[in-house]
Amino acid sequence: MDVKVERKVLLNPGPATTTDTVKMAQIVPDICPREKEFVGIMREIEEGLLKIVHADPKEYAAVLFCGSGTINMDICLNSLLPEGKKILVINNGAYSSRGVEICNYYGLEHIDMKLPINQQPDLKEVEKVLQENPDIALVYITHHETGTGLLNPIREIGALVHRYGARFVVDTTSTYAMRPINIHEDNVDFCMASAQKGIMAMTGLSFIIGRRDAIEASAEYPKRSYYCNLYLQYQYFMEHGEMHFTPPVQVIYATRQALKEYFAEGEQAKWERHRKVFAAIRRNLTELGFHIFIPEEIQSELVAAALYPDDPNWDFGKVHDYCYERGFTIYPGKVEKKGMFRLCALGAITEQDIEDFFVVFREALTKYNVSIPVMYQ
Ligand SMILES: *Cc1c(COP(=O)(O)O)cnc(C)c1O
Repeated sequence: MDVKVERKVLLNPGPATTTDTVKMAQIVPDICPREKEFVGIMREIEEGLLKIVHADPKEYAAVLFCGSGTINMDICLNSLLPEGKKILVINNGAYSSRGVEICNYYGLEHIDMKLPINQQPDLKEVEKVLQENPDIALVYITHHETGTGLLNPIREIGALVHRYGARFVVDTTSTYAMRPINIHEDNVDFCMASAQKGIMAMTGLSFIIGRRDAIEASAEYPKRSYYCNLYLQYQYFMEHGEMHFTPPVQVIYATRQALKEYFAEGEQAKWERHRKVFAAIRRNLTELGFHIFIPEEIQSELVAAALYPDDPNWDFGKVHDYCYERGFTIYPGKVEKKGMFRLCALGAITEQDIEDFFVVFREALTKYNVSIPVMYQ
């Protein structure tokens, strides 16, 4: 098949730019996903997903779901809370706030440890909450708050959580397959991601990687959802080697190809590429005078949230459209009443794409008479 697809550089926080080979991997003969051939692909994908976080398949399982990344958050929170116990949500960003919202929707007992969104949590404060609440069975955190670019110190917090006998659930949606993660050494019991972010496949497939003993123990916990229950899906996969309900067939093919490309690029090399892309974003933004919201020391090095300048001519919509028409997608966001936009280092992009982007971005600023360097009051 000889199809040319125009290349777009996505600087939004996912879905990410994909390779043509991943796009094309979706074009396959029609197949019933209950055929043996397809079941083999599912096993291959489970293996690859575990390997990315160095999870031993005897101890950990990858459980797949059809849905966007939020489905993982929903499933972990509603499935892993024993009767009479509590969840502690360490909340320093929009994604952790979504975790709190999920707790509220299901009426799950929880503590919302609300913290400033531009700071890492204080370990002593986390420990104090754990000490005072021995009924906390689950601690939930976001590894990388994609809304701001803040990185949380999961290894240190995980060690604390385990010292107090709780399970540690980490939303790694925007770090998995980008920043190296070792599930065991990082003290993580459950992590998660979806196919359109770090592994650079398509939207529609999400997965949770977690301790088998913890999933098996959850068979006895209160059931709060049918479609979104972790144990039910795990058990079905163990017995049949496939998802309980219809999988996103074409997305699975794209994911298989994306995993091949992930391992071909290599964990360290891929992370170095993302870091270089991020460094180019930061350098160019700084040269233009933009302020980046999160200080360098606690940056994920994957997302730069730049504050809108105080220039009456600045109009994000116009700048966005100018860039979009030239193949570059940038993303708005509002945090604590401050207008911001985000430039992200996800996806199959390089430093050169960033240099090319900034030529266009600078043109847009000039065209709309935004002064350079940009000004703040
Ligand atoms: C992208 C993302 C999600 C999932 O969001 P969806 O819109 O459901 O795909 C969850 N957590 C984090 C940290 C994310 O970056």
